[in-house]
Amino acid sequence: MSPTELWQAALAQLQLNISSANFITWFKNTEIISFENGKVVISVPNSFVKEWLEQKYNKMVFRALHSLDEKIKEIKYVINKPNLKVINKNNYYDNYNDNLNRLKFTEFFVNKETNLNNRYGFDNFVVGPFNELAHAAALAVSKNPGEVYNPLFIYGGVGLGKTHLIQATGNEIVKNFSDKKVKYVSTEKFVSGVISAIKNQEMESFKERYRRIDVLILDDVQFLAGKEKTQEEFFHIFNALYEKNKQIIISSDRPPKTIPALTERLRSRFEGGMLTDISFPDFETRIAILKMKAGEQQLILQDDVLEYIAKNIQQNIRELEGTVNQLVAYQKLQNKNPDIDVAKNLLKKAALIKNRATTPSKIIQTVAHFYDLKEKDLLTLSRRKEIVKPRQVAMYLLRSELNCSFPFIGRKFNGKDHTTAIYSFEKIHKEIQENERLADEILSIKQRVYEG
Ligand code: ADP
Ligand code: MG
Repeated sequence: MSPTELWQAALAQLQLNISSANFITWFKNTEIISFENGKVVISVPNSFVKEWLEQKYNKMVFRALHSLDEKIKEIKYVINKPNLKVINKNNYYDNYNDNLNRLKFTEFFVNKETNLNNRYGFDNFVVGPFNELAHAAALAVSKNPGEVYNPLFIYGGVGLGKTHLIQATGNEIVKNFSDKKVKYVSTEKFVSGVISAIKNQEMESFKERYRRIDVLILDDVQFLAGKEKTQEEFFHIFNALYEKNKQIIISSDRPPKTIPALTERLRSRFEGGMLTDISFPDFETRIAILKMKAGEQQLILQDDVLEYIAKNIQQNIRELEGTVNQLVAYQKLQNKNPDIDVAKNLLKKAALIKNRATTPSKIIQTVAHFYDLKEKDLLTLSRRKEIVKPRQVAMYLLRSELNCSFPFIGRKFNGKDHTTAIYSFEKIHKEIQENERLADEILSIKQRVYEG
C-alpha cells in the first residue's frame, strides 16, 4: 500500500469520528510524505493546522494509522514546503495527484446559495417500506413545489435519512425549476441567525431575506424547542411564505406534538400539511443500502458479509455506511475483498468501543479534573461561576454520552431538580454551536473520558 492509500484509509476512519466541518478544516491538503522505519511524516498546509493536529488530533490520527499498520510508531507533522514533495519524490508518488483528487472531501460540495450538498440525491436514496411514504411525498413536492403538500414535515430517528431526503428534494427542485430560490438551513443555524439579527438590530432584513425564498428547507426543527423568540420569528416567516404558496420542508427527530415547548400556533402550522415518518429499515432494505454504498466505491461484498452486517446493524443507516467505508479501507489496504471474518472483527471492535461506554462517575471525575476542581465541589449547589459552568458541562455530557434521564442527572448533583438538568443540557448544547472554544473543551473532555 502506498502512503497515499494509507492516508486515504486513515482519513476514511477519521471522518467517522469528527464533524465534517472539523474534518475539512484540519485535514484538507494534508498528505503523508514519507513512511519509513515506523515513522510517518504528514505534511500540512500551515503552522496553525500543524499545531491543532499535534495538540488535538494526534491521538486519533495515531490510532487510525496504527490500526491500519501496526508498524507505525511515530507521527511527525511538517509544514508543506512546495519543494518538499520533489525532494521526497520516489516511486510512491506516481499516482499521487490522481489519488489526491479522489479523496472524499473533494468529491462533494455545498452550494453557497442554496446550502445544498450535491451528494444527496433521489438516485442514491434507497426506498423501502420504512421510508416509502416520506419518499413519495418528497418526490411529489419536488415536482410541484408549493402545490401538493405544504408544509412537508418528515420525522424520524437519528441516521435514518431525513437530511438526505430533504436535501435531495431541494436538489431536485433546483434541477427542475432553475428560477426557484431554494434554501436549506439547519435549525441551529437559523436560531443563531435570529439571535445575531436581534443583537445587530437587523431583524427586518433578516426576515426579508427569508421571505424572498421559494423553497425553504429547515432541518432538525426540534431544536426550536424552548426558543420562544426564534419560534415567533419563524412563525412570521412561515406565514409569509405559506400565504404565497412557497414550499416549506421540515425535518424533526420527533412529531410536532412531542416537541416540548413548541408554541401551539407553530405546532398547528406544522400539522397542517403532510406529516410523514421514516422508521427503521427492514432487513432487505438494509441489504440494498449496503450494496449500493459498497457499489459506489467499487467494492463487491459477498452475500454472507452483507447479511452479517445487515443482521447486526439495524437502527442506523449512517452506521451501515460507516461499516462499508471501513471495509473499503480494508480492501484498499490488503488488496483483497473483506470476508465474513473481517466483517465480524470490525463489528466486534465497534461494539467494544461502544461498550467501553463510560459511566456517570467517570464523566464527573473527568470534568472535575479537567477544570481543576474537586469532585465534591462540582456536585455541590455552589453558584460560584467557576463551578456553574463545569457543572453544566458535566450534566450535558451525562445526557449526550450516556443518555441519562434528567431526573437521574438532577439527583446526582445533590438532588437538583430535573429542570436544572434540562436547562444545563440545552444551554451547553446551544453554546457549543456558537462557541468554538467550548466545543473544543468538550471534545477534549470526551477524549479523556474514553481514553483515560
Ligand atoms: P438523519 O438526518 O435522519 O440523521 P441522514 O440523512 O444524515 O440521517 O443519513 C445518514 C446517512 O445515511 C447519510 O450519509 C445518508 O446519505 C445515508 N442514508 C440515509 N438513508 C438512506 C437511504 N434511504 N438510502 C441511501 N442512503 C441513506
Ligand atoms: Mg439530519
